Amino acid sequence: MASIRCRRLPVLLFLSFSSILGVTDASAGDADPIYGACVEQCEKTGCVGGKCFQHCNFSNGNSIDGPWYLQEPLYLRWKRWDCQSDCRYQCMLAREEERKELGYKPVKYHGKWPFRRVYGIQEPVSVALSVLNLAIQFHGWVSFFILVNYKLPFSPSKKTYYEYTGLWHIYAMLAMNSWFWNAVFHSRDVELTEKLDYSSAVALLGYSLLLAILRVFNIRDEAARVMVAAPVIAFLTTHILYLNIYQLDYGLNMKVCVALGVTQLLLWAVWASVSQHPSRWKLWLVVAGGAIGMLLEIFDFPPYWGFVDAHALWHATTIPLTYLWWSFAKDDSEFRTSILVKKIK
Ligand SMILES: [Zn+2]
Repeated sequence: MASIRCRRLPVLLFLSFSSILGVTDASAGDADPIYGACVEQCEKTGCVGGKCFQHCNFSNGNSIDGPWYLQEPLYLRWKRWDCQSDCRYQCMLAREEERKELGYKPVKYHGKWPFRRVYGIQEPVSVALSVLNLAIQFHGWVSFFILVNYKLPFSPSKKTYYEYTGLWHIYAMLAMNSWFWNAVFHSRDVELTEKLDYSSAVALLGYSLLLAILRVFNIRDEAARVMVAAPVIAFLTTHILYLNIYQLDYGLNMKVCVALGVTQLLLWAVWASVSQHPSRWKLWLVVAGGAIGMLLEIFDFPPYWGFVDAHALWHATTIPLTYLWWSFAKDDSEFRTSILVKKIK
């Protein structure tokens, strides 16, 4: 279950309101002229206060725009990114320190709360929780794999009785891929890691909706599955291409993610209440947990001690949910297999 896994839900909700009011999407922190002047100064001199960055030593000023053959070498571009990133970080810390002394609350910079880095990792708590989630996904998938392939009986055609085995394997791949890129993104937020994270999240969320439709409506026929999957996959592909090639539109992506997430939560909730599935209570817990997670994303708050913000807490809620979700998948495979074995006998 992907739950409502589109980061920046709060930012995006805010954006959808602010676009109505005609407000720009810059965060309060980077709109602050003192911060702006600090970054500009730092990118010229390479220093903030007494701190200097060696990434900011440039011998010439080649543009990073323009065709690739006129651009500076890749390592110089990296250097420039590092310089900008270090300058923004130090200026943010300095500005937040000043603001704190004046009694102001933390504000966001470039869409993000002022996090403290650990060994250059931007959001260490979210990274750790993403990695933990990845580990639990892996554990869940391996135990599912062992159950369906080694513990449950095979049909006379040497296949698993459970009709959704392959679909869960694909789900596992997409989930592990998504949590991997999420960990990378929280370590280092640049355009590439952001796009990889967003694309993986959309793919996972969309696929889990497809899985929900196929399971809830008990679609087992190959042709019917293709008919359902084709429009969903076409839509997801279009959306991912749009984000990557045309525009990374946070507001649009937010709407798409909420629609995908809410639809699957509703499908599972309705099915849990009408079906006689023995593990429907697990579905209920996942739906309830998903809703709580959504609230955490909506009632965004700045990080405590510079580390734990609402999004990090949301990450924490996904861990028991992932465990429960794989536990449901295993129960479902046993449940379906027992029904099918009885039918054959
Ligand atoms: Zn995250």
